[in-house]
Amino acid sequence: MLELRTISGVTGVMGCLMALVMFFQRRSYPPTIHGLGHWTAAPLLAFASAVLFTLRGVVPALLSAGLANALLFAAAATFLAGSCRFFGQPLPARATALLWLAGAATLVFMSLFSGHYGWRVLFMGLLLSGVGAWHAAVVWRQPVHSFATRFTGTVLAISSTITLARAVSAPFAPPQEGLFTPAPMQMMYLLGLAFGTLLTSIGTVLMAAEHLRRELERLITHDSLTGALTRRALFTTGEAELARARRQGRPLAVLMLDLDHFKQINDAHGHRVGDRVLVDFVARAHAVLRRPAVLGRYGGEEFVALLPDTDMGQALAVAERLRTSACVDAHLPPCSVSIGVATALPQDTLDALINRADAGLYEAKAQGRNRVAQAPAADGPPPRRH
Ligand code: GH3
Ligand code: MG
Ligand code: MG
Repeated sequence: MLELRTISGVTGVMGCLMALVMFFQRRSYPPTIHGLGHWTAAPLLAFASAVLFTLRGVVPALLSAGLANALLFAAAATFLAGSCRFFGQPLPARATALLWLAGAATLVFMSLFSGHYGWRVLFMGLLLSGVGAWHAAVVWRQPVHSFATRFTGTVLAISSTITLARAVSAPFAPPQEGLFTPAPMQMMYLLGLAFGTLLTSIGTVLMAAEHLRRELERLITHDSLTGALTRRALFTTGEAELARARRQGRPLAVLMLDLDHFKQINDAHGHRVGDRVLVDFVARAHAVLRRPAVLGRYGGEEFVALLPDTDMGQALAVAERLRTSACVDAHLPPCSVSIGVATALPQDTLDALINRADAGLYEAKAQGRNRVAQAPAADGPPPRRH
């Protein structure tokens, strides 16, 4: 049988080390990643709690039971608050008040009823496993999962189940049993606490790293102003879609969109307003386009939409919807968009396909702008517009 007081001491050391890891990680992460402060504080609170638990019988029960349990509860609540902030859903005021109340109740209950071990464990266990389950639910409810979220969610679910099992069995335990009585349930609980603290902290480090990776990937593939795909990501997606269309014998349409007289908007209202027009244009275009269609920023105020599984008739209809839904914000200067449409031919390269959409756009501009035009059927190099 392991020495249980030692396990409790080791929990403290682990908490302290994990807080240190998180502290240094945090300094190298951008401030856009929230919750890292809470994730640093939580294992520190667990450390302080473990130190007091380890001193059970050495220091007064008010500290080794009352304060120790209150700190443990605070650690679990702080981990939860960190995850909520991290996932962009901060704890509402009522939930925060509830947690504070439960923390204070823990302190009072543990101090007043220091003699009733079974009931103390039941009370604390229910609170602690409740917060653990709540935390697991926050992590599992995220729409996008990675190894990091699955790992953290599983650790939280297992450790709160162990805490719950100990809580409900405590009133039936022999009356002389204490925290460091070498009983299987106590050992499982203390090991669960030690590994729970360590693995939850590792989980938070993994989730933060995963978040950073996603953010960097997004910076590379998405235009920072409008959120459309970058030109490079557009071409990568375009090549893949063209190959897929050819392999499966499915149609692929390309739209080339260009805002009309955009220079005049900049000249009359300033570059910042021009930027807002671009952002609004892309937001409205995204609302019209359905997956797997994508929109990329080809350059300045020119965009390319790739429409897989779309023939010319459907593409013209989508283009018309894009045209009529653009520039309808009354708070922005009036504008319009011209759109050229082309569909892939069997021998097309992506460049050739985009060039034909560009030729369609030239037609739309030549016919007076604010309209949709199909790429001319004639082969040969497209006319240049600039
Ligand atoms: P046309 O109808 O023939 O397309 O005329 P146009 O004025 O839209 O075309 P032109 O190519 O002459 O001008 C494009 C303008 O778009 C010039 C450039 O300053 C502006 N532009 C390009 N990128 C941005 C941007 O990110 N923000 C803003 N505000 N303006 C941009
Ligand atoms: Mg233009
Ligand atoms: Mg242009």
